[in-house]
Amino acid sequence: MSEFTNFDTQEIDKFDNVADVWWNPKGEMGTLHVINPLRTNFITERLENHAPRVLDVGCGGGILSEALARAGAQVTGIDLSQASIEAAKRHAQAEGLEIDYRCVSAEEIAASQPESFDVVTCMEMLEHVPEPGKVVAACARALKPGGQAFFSTINRTPKAFLFAIVGGEYILRLLPRGTHTYAKLIRPSELKAWNAENGLDFVRLASLMYNPFTRKFKVAHNKEDVNYMAHFAKK
Ligand code: SAH
Repeated sequence: MSEFTNFDTQEIDKFDNVADVWWNPKGEMGTLHVINPLRTNFITERLENHAPRVLDVGCGGGILSEALARAGAQVTGIDLSQASIEAAKRHAQAEGLEIDYRCVSAEEIAASQPESFDVVTCMEMLEHVPEPGKVVAACARALKPGGQAFFSTINRTPKAFLFAIVGGEYILRLLPRGTHTYAKLIRPSELKAWNAENGLDFVRLASLMYNPFTRKFKVAHNKEDVNYMAHFAKK
């Protein structure tokens, strides 16, 4: 690694250890497969450019990167989990998709390719990073003027603790135990402030609500107290 050290080794190890199961819809990452069409739609429904250059930050095994590539985007996927990047490369190759996967940090890409992307996506990643504000700054720097940024994460509220951590990890087993740490969760106001500091205007929020009876998620509005997706635009 170079001078950029905004990552947590334990977090990266955790994802290295599950790298073989990214593409198993019934495995530990199954929930990401279930929510993927909803979050892909949240990103693509407002894009005017149908072949945008997309940077997917913290891409993991490429679940979102592949969906965006299939929707016509030219995708660069980055992640510091080497094993996940390798799994992503293998999977895209088997699917015949051309995706540029690299094991580098958001800060490194922002320094080497500033103002290069029409869209930056950073889903379910900020809550695993020591200084998420710096990742937001890097995403902003990598975007072209007028570009769009999309983030998703979990809110830091008692309800999120109950539903996302206790309910999601321990009762319903939607996520592996130990996936999230309460103190690292992020409030929408914090995400908005980091974006504003870096010249990104707030556009809209939505959340994904889980129904344990139907076992389905749906997009909801004005219910950001557990999880949320946020859209910003660079001036
Ligand atoms: N965005 C993907 C994966 C989410 S899991 C999806 O939603 O499908 C979180 C990912 O963030 C993991 O792959 C992990 O390795 C990565 N990650 C955690 N800290 C990181 C950091 N500092 N820089 C880059 N990637 C990081």
